[in-house]
Amino acid sequence: MQGKIALEEHFAIPDTLLDSAGFVPAEYWPELKGRLLDIQERRLTEMDRHGIEMMILSLNAPAVQAIPDRAMALEIARRANDYLAEQVAKRPTRFQAFAALPMQDPELATSELERCVKTLGFRGALVNGFSQIADGRAPIYYDLPQYWPFWARVEQLGTPFYLHPRNPLPEDSRIYEGHSWLLGPTWAFGQETAVHALRLIGSGLFDAHPNLRIIVGHMGEGLPYSMWRIDHRNAWVKAPHKHKAKRKIRDYFNENFYLTTSGNFRTQTLIDAMLEIGADRILFSVDWPFENVDHAADWFDAASISETDRVKIGRDNAARLFKLDRPVSASVGIDQAAE
Ligand code: MN
Repeated sequence: MQGKIALEEHFAIPDTLLDSAGFVPAEYWPELKGRLLDIQERRLTEMDRHGIEMMILSLNAPAVQAIPDRAMALEIARRANDYLAEQVAKRPTRFQAFAALPMQDPELATSELERCVKTLGFRGALVNGFSQIADGRAPIYYDLPQYWPFWARVEQLGTPFYLHPRNPLPEDSRIYEGHSWLLGPTWAFGQETAVHALRLIGSGLFDAHPNLRIIVGHMGEGLPYSMWRIDHRNAWVKAPHKHKAKRKIRDYFNENFYLTTSGNFRTQTLIDAMLEIGADRILFSVDWPFENVDHAADWFDAASISETDRVKIGRDNAARLFKLDRPVSASVGIDQAAE
């Protein structure tokens, strides 16, 4: 399929590059490093070769979320965002941007998101799971009350928020002791991100802010497969559920969430996601440079789904969600004129 749009596609700046170093064997690091630092050359070649018209780019992980010092987190976020804006400006029809945000401080995160959306023309934010604050040993999740003003602003801006994985902190990883193979994309990324997404839902956040749009990658981090069970455990017991959200968890998952195919190129899994959340809420992605563009595109282009769904998932859903029919220069101009 030509004209695909992909939106979990990462780059690094020198300050964040080494955050990605542990995820491949040492002999692959030069290749991964080259892929992360490149935007305008190898990446474009891969896109052209495999029918990807546009990538919405985001910083690697955990990057800003793993910087406990708020001022430093803001500085690195701004540095990455400014660099990304420059890169996107070179080819705005091929690249768009997600903001990195210093979520350690909800007010700083809000103002940086506003700057990125209104001044730099970014399409939303991609955040790498919980943030570390203070001594770095406490994970802060975004369902907590101090984040609700941030979410109110995200809803007002109308920009999607991509909740991207990171590994749990060592203090919270005892279940993986002796089984480090389970960390990262094998298992821990999905577990960590799925629980965070469920915390957001269960907190009642989407009752207060029903227009928030959250994106999760990797075909939903396992959530589609578990969605019925989450709402129906012990169904013979007529006690009310214990979460703060008013409706079933599934209702919010279906109305406030979008999934991407990043790093999970399996038709059986895609079909399950389509049966739970529907083809209108699934978006093609690669997870470059950690996954190969050809692996994603060759699988997706040939997957046994209808051509109508292929066009939705491959392109149209993203174009609608990110308003990509509206040129970024025009949208920035409108926002600046309004200020
Ligand atoms: Mn990723």
